[in-house]
Amino acid sequence: MNKQFYYFFVRRFRNHKVSPYIHTMKTFHANIAVIGAGAAGMLAAWRSSQHTNGVILLEKNEKPGMKIRISGGGKCNVTHGGTISVMLKQFQKNEEHFLRYAFHEFTNADIAELLRRHGVETYERENGKVFPNSHNADDVVNVFLSLLHSSNVKIFPSTPVKNIIKTENGDFHLITQKEEFIAKKVILASGGSSYQKTGTTGDGFLWMKNFGHTITPIRPALAPIYFSPTPPAEWQGVPIRDCELKIMTENFCASAKRGDLLITHTGISGPAALEASKEAFLALEKGLPISAVVDFYPEHSNEELEKILLEKLQQQSAKQILSIIEQLIPVKLAENFLVQSGISPEVKAHQITKEARKRVLEKLKHWNIGTVSEILLDRGEVTAGGVDLKEISSTTMESKLISGLFACGEILDIAGPVGGYNLQAAFSTGYVAGENAGTSLKLQ
Ligand SMILES: Cc1cc2nc3c(=O)[nH]c(=O)nc-3n(C[C@H](O)[C@H](O)[C@H](O)COP(=O)(O)OP(=O)(O)OC[C@H]3O[C@@H](n4cnc5c(N)ncnc54)[C@H](O)[C@@H]3O)c2cc1C
Repeated sequence: MNKQFYYFFVRRFRNHKVSPYIHTMKTFHANIAVIGAGAAGMLAAWRSSQHTNGVILLEKNEKPGMKIRISGGGKCNVTHGGTISVMLKQFQKNEEHFLRYAFHEFTNADIAELLRRHGVETYERENGKVFPNSHNADDVVNVFLSLLHSSNVKIFPSTPVKNIIKTENGDFHLITQKEEFIAKKVILASGGSSYQKTGTTGDGFLWMKNFGHTITPIRPALAPIYFSPTPPAEWQGVPIRDCELKIMTENFCASAKRGDLLITHTGISGPAALEASKEAFLALEKGLPISAVVDFYPEHSNEELEKILLEKLQQQSAKQILSIIEQLIPVKLAENFLVQSGISPEVKAHQITKEARKRVLEKLKHWNIGTVSEILLDRGEVTAGGVDLKEISSTTMESKLISGLFACGEILDIAGPVGGYNLQAAFSTGYVAGENAGTSLKLQ
């Protein structure tokens, strides 16, 4: 190395704190670069490769599809079996409006058929949730990997993208640790910012913000609800089936969700709690004191419930009230329930006064199970908030601000309920992004 070149090198290294080896950085050219090999990104990469060659998929993790792999407790509730209009109704109005085109373009039947054609049969449960027969989420990921492989999509695992820059000639430069990628179109499918260990650290929100997009406030959704104080040790692991969970502030009910509930060592989880978490978080943000209240019999009116209780008290009049309450709510909760109702558990059923009966009835419909203290973003199955839907075309998933830039999946401001809706939203928006990024190049 001659002296002049050596000093240029050393100066550059000192001033810019970049490795002198930066000059050995490899550059790859692509037609379409998809960032994030999750449900949305893999669908988008596969679909765009049906229209153009030179599709690459960059993934931070060593293994693609980490969130699919842990979805549905590893069984993968891949979609929901309802009609499109019923599925759309599960989303907030603006989300419903945005998703309508994508849900029709790539339907729940389409994803089931795609999986079936590649050897993964699915079945629908009574509640509409669709799972692979094998109950193995890896099987779903493997279908996508095989589709990508046969479509010549080049996957770059362990390749976290650090930044995206749009150059004057309209190309995008994607900077990673070791390589630089230059692409004509970019599909951003980097997910939300919960379960950060799975790779989703909200990187895409920052890039979209730098491109001038609005990022609506990021909040947890479908997250467990924490209590302070935590539930008594003996309640932990107790399920409450088909109840109604109300999130109550002093003056109003912030959320009422029906479904199963599970008491944990920190608070509550299970479908009803997960679905109430978004509204509970908003109420917490306002600094309001919040209690979680359970209606054990949401399908019964007070009068109907009174009849049931009276019958039990009369038919089993010699029994302790504790054993009767144990027939009405989970056994491990019964004693505390009676204490809260101001009734001694040893009292015989025939000794229960009308006044005490009223208190039991009131508690069966309105049992304060704990005080909500926290809902953590990282524990949310989805991230609420994200790229403002008003700034993305719902029929192409292309940015309305930056041409050639597409966004799909959880990076968008979409958060559906439990039941396969979120994966379907990722698949459908990924499909539309891939279709349009791919065809726009074909037509050039
Ligand atoms: C525990 C759990 C269970 C769930 N169960 C279900 C279920 O059963 N059914 C359902 O419908 N939904 C479920 N969900 C939600 C669902 O998994 C997500 O909504 C969906 O996977 C989102 O897909 P996505 O492709 O948008 O994002 P992700 O699947 O999160 O994919 C984003 C990808 O981008 C990568 N990435 C991020 N930043 C970068 C970067 N800088 N460079 C390169 N790559 C990057 C990430 O590593 C990740 O692989 C569950 C979620 C969780 C956490």
